[in-house]
Amino acid sequence: MIARRKTRQVKVGQVLIGGDAPVAVQSMTSGYTHDIDGCVREINKLAAAGADIVRVAVPERKDTEALREILKQVTVPIVADVHFHFQRALEAVEAGVQKIRLNPGNINDRAQVEKVIDACKERSLPIRIGVNEGSIVERKDKQRRLKELGAVFSNNRHGHMLAIMISKLEEYLDIFYERNFYDIVISAKSIDPLLVMDAYSEISRRFDHPLHLGVTHAGPKETGTIRSVVPLGTLLAGGIGDTIRISYANDPIYEVQDGLELLYVLGLRQRRGAELIACPTCGRIQVDLFTLVQKVNARLKEHITLPIKVAVMGCVVNGPGECEGADVAIFAGDKRGIIYVQGQKVANVPEEQILDALLDQCRQFQDKVNRGEARLGEKLVDIIPPDPIGELGSGYAKIAAAKAGETDTSLPVLNF
Ligand code: SF4
Repeated sequence: MIARRKTRQVKVGQVLIGGDAPVAVQSMTSGYTHDIDGCVREINKLAAAGADIVRVAVPERKDTEALREILKQVTVPIVADVHFHFQRALEAVEAGVQKIRLNPGNINDRAQVEKVIDACKERSLPIRIGVNEGSIVERKDKQRRLKELGAVFSNNRHGHMLAIMISKLEEYLDIFYERNFYDIVISAKSIDPLLVMDAYSEISRRFDHPLHLGVTHAGPKETGTIRSVVPLGTLLAGGIGDTIRISYANDPIYEVQDGLELLYVLGLRQRRGAELIACPTCGRIQVDLFTLVQKVNARLKEHITLPIKVAVMGCVVNGPGECEGADVAIFAGDKRGIIYVQGQKVANVPEEQILDALLDQCRQFQDKVNRGEARLGEKLVDIIPPDPIGELGSGYAKIAAAKAGETDTSLPVLNF
């Protein structure tokens, strides 16, 4: 169980961020906000995938004008992402958004910031201060403060950048504190995962505002996943972070899916829907497991709402040991599949029937859990896999012999 750092709490519509609230998952629409129908479609798609909060860009007046209509058609809280023009923030507040994001790097005129603070305060809306790497603002004593902070961070690999980020943050926060405004979320994103870890760790030591974690411009999903999940997972495992946004150059639906999965595996959120585990396959495989796994995954998303653990394993040789804890498991082999529910064998079907039979067992098991006749995570009996005897002889005997280095290592043909 991860002990999370205590922070203040803010309210974004019906969603709480910080304090003892669960870590919230955010994403951002990729289309134009002034395309009302497209924007609503995208927001609702992200919400259906599990996004707790969705951010939209409002670069132009026509974008903030669209917000009023958009807000009528969505239920998930909306954040207006404001850059350069403080008026967009005021218009978005007027339209009824639930949170504003400001960038100190491009909205740094004190009077303008104060106007946004006052508008948000009047409506009890929180503001995220997004201090992205490279956003630099001027201040009278900046050089002195940078020197001080530079000395503090002199042993840090990102010392200079950290000093700039912290000094910027202090300066910006001063404006908020002077107006008694504390409904603040802080982010400090960078494209550099190591800087992200250093920056958030330092900020969490210095400020008690909830933190919005993210790696900016993480790139395509193929590489962006590692770039994002390593720093975010490390911070979250250390108790740092109250809301996350994974950003990919791809359909933002993946941001939500991966963000949720990250929280699930860290035990920071209660899983919604089935958890699918599958073997990577090896030379023992005798069915088209990769295709089967894709199909099972899609069907589970459609039909299973409980966090049932489902295992799809390529064979009975190592499968039973490797799918420990699964509620429903299928072991494939010899163009067939054997299905187990909590350790009990319930079906043995040819390859073409595996998908339907597995889904059928998952649905039946879900119904039993809903009726209180079964409990998730219980193992009623140990799976005793069939002895893989085939034309090559006794599988177990051969495996045992091979392990002992006594005889050949031919793979057994599984015989169900
Ligand atoms: S379950 Fe069987 S097929 Fe899959 S990786 Fe393990 S040994 Fe190979």
